[in-house]
Amino acid sequence: MPVLPVLDIGAPDLRVCAERVPEDSISSVEVQQHIDSLVDTMRSVNGSGLAATQVGIHLQICVMEVTHNPRYPYKPSFPLTVMINPTWEPVGSDTYSNFEGCLSVPNLRGRVKRYRRIQVQYLDRKGVSHSKLLVGLRAGTVQHELDHLQGLLFTDRVEDKSSMTTWANFEAFHKENWLSEIAEVIQEEKELRTPSDS
Ligand code: ZN
Repeated sequence: MPVLPVLDIGAPDLRVCAERVPEDSISSVEVQQHIDSLVDTMRSVNGSGLAATQVGIHLQICVMEVTHNPRYPYKPSFPLTVMINPTWEPVGSDTYSNFEGCLSVPNLRGRVKRYRRIQVQYLDRKGVSHSKLLVGLRAGTVQHELDHLQGLLFTDRVEDKSSMTTWANFEAFHKENWLSEIAEVIQEEKELRTPSDS
């Protein structure tokens, strides 16, 4: 499938709320091709997630995958997951400070408060329904991607604007401190991994 251009911040399409995918159209050639394009596009730019909104498709579809990603070497791996019509709710009230980047916000990262544990519901590309408990960075990724489907970017949620940094300065000045700050969160996430994830 074609690799699609990813829209940059400022593109009006990024602010559009995506529509639900009618369940009887999930198996259609059109929707299946959108999914393949999203996966190919995400992989071509080493993204850990991509929402359809980011390529100007206004349907509630996002894809996620982390396998030794050079953009995010500290992220626990995350098998390819396609989420259609996803919804989530927090499990408990614990939050953590995630240092997020986005393919639609080139060369910027910033701190965003995310729920540490969430329950996410979605349909996969075969239309099968799933409900999963996710913690830590995976939970953060899902919250980030589902924000896109509502027309939101992580920059909208950065409370402390002074945390905004280029990727090079994140590596040089912030990464080490942040990783030690969230060590417990990553540990809990690793412990929750199921055998099917690896
Ligand atoms: Zn993003």
